[in-house]
Amino acid sequence: MNMSVDSQKTFYIETFGCQMNVHDSEKVIGTLVHEGYRQVETVEKADLILYNTCSIRDKAEQKVFHRLADYKKLLAQGKKFGVLGCVAQQEGEKIFERAPHVSLVCGSASYRNLPQMLVQLEAGNQAATEKSGSRKPAAGSPLRITGLDDRETDECFETEFTARTNPHRGYITIIEGCDKFCAYCVVPFTRGKERSRTSDSVLAEARQMADLGYTEIQLLGQNVNSYKDPAGKPGGKKTFAELLAAVGDVPGIRRVRFTTSHPRDFGRDIVEAIDTVPTLCDHVHLPVQSGSDRVLNAMQRLYTREQYMERIAWMKAAKREISITSDIIVGFPGETEEDFAETLSLLEEVGYDSVFTFKYSPRPNTPSLALDDAIPDQEKSRRLEVLMAKQKEIQIARYKKYIGTVSEVMVEGRNESRGQWIGRTSQNKTLNFTAPESSAPKVGTYVPVRATASFPNSLLGEMVV
Ligand code: SAM
Ligand code: SF4
Repeated sequence: MNMSVDSQKTFYIETFGCQMNVHDSEKVIGTLVHEGYRQVETVEKADLILYNTCSIRDKAEQKVFHRLADYKKLLAQGKKFGVLGCVAQQEGEKIFERAPHVSLVCGSASYRNLPQMLVQLEAGNQAATEKSGSRKPAAGSPLRITGLDDRETDECFETEFTARTNPHRGYITIIEGCDKFCAYCVVPFTRGKERSRTSDSVLAEARQMADLGYTEIQLLGQNVNSYKDPAGKPGGKKTFAELLAAVGDVPGIRRVRFTTSHPRDFGRDIVEAIDTVPTLCDHVHLPVQSGSDRVLNAMQRLYTREQYMERIAWMKAAKREISITSDIIVGFPGETEEDFAETLSLLEEVGYDSVFTFKYSPRPNTPSLALDDAIPDQEKSRRLEVLMAKQKEIQIARYKKYIGTVSEVMVEGRNESRGQWIGRTSQNKTLNFTAPESSAPKVGTYVPVRATASFPNSLLGEMVV
């Protein structure tokens, strides 16, 4: 038995929420491993249990507190608990009251201070051990460590220790926080003010990933296209479209994705970059939220339907067909049947390939909290169902068009039970396929596949050999 491994501090981390959170966890894991911790797959095996939380909707937040309550009994075994991410930032020290077994509360704007916080956590543990002679914290002296930087921080969480699990495609954060303050949204309060990384540092990370064998990079930000290069060199600053193109030009990189784009900051130069740089994927996620100008205005989205449709027109005029996807909220305070009908008509007009749909959920601190959330939950659910049924019809028709066409896919894995390979197209569509055993593809490679059948959310095909 390897004693050094056995005596190593261990941690378990569970991640809730969006891609930003998934990638934040990759950075947190890398930081902990660098600090001498070992990641384990179960709560039972861990000394430190971390939850990277999401508070975008009420349900997401409740899930975290349920999970924390479930594991309270493990405190008696000397385990430590930490809450990271949006719920941590939103609820702050109140978490210690609601879940007294938690010792660490840290928002995403403070992750760069994690190494110091871990030292404090361990020192507290030692003090408790000396006092009580056991690994349990001494009674009456709970350990409470906080990292709750407010909106004022200018720093990004940059680390060279990111622990990416997929060896072929990986995320790079280019911008953190948000200054848009949409009426319903908690993000500006939980992720701090908008701050961009320098293009030099983003490109250095992209080159480093290419050297390690990554071929696909996804640039991340709450609004990636609000990117503002803080680089000091005169003439050296890049716009978002220039940064996209530069990442796409990194030798070895075959695909560059970016999400999420905000309609207000979506310039024509992004479409031009997709037209000229073949490695930039032909997919744009451009959340509209509502098709009604009245609701867009109440949501403080900073654009009209017409302006949104103008951006859609730029994309539709591109040389390559660009797949467009969106987020939509139903039941925002004051949304009438007519407003909702305008959202349905917008779905038709755009022809999205996929839409994430949400029922409006009132969130702490947000401007819309002051509005009466008068639409009953049942009615929100009805609108959601109507919306999803309409979108399904649209997708059935859209996906059908690809039957008979050949697309390059990145091989993502194998579904043994179906005898199929799992592939993803540049448009971000799932294209599962069969291949002769003699030419079975490797995961992470790119192969041509002819689509032979379509479903509402995916395509089926055969590898072209
Ligand atoms: N920054 C992106 C944008 O502005 O399009 C969106 C980021 S947000 C993390 C993801 C999605 O969550 C939003 O596009 C919105 O549809 C949904 N969302 C945010 N707050 C919500 C709320 N209070 N109720 C329901 N859905 C919400
Ligand atoms: Fe939230 Fe609006 Fe910022 Fe998107 S742009 S993160 S919806 S406040």
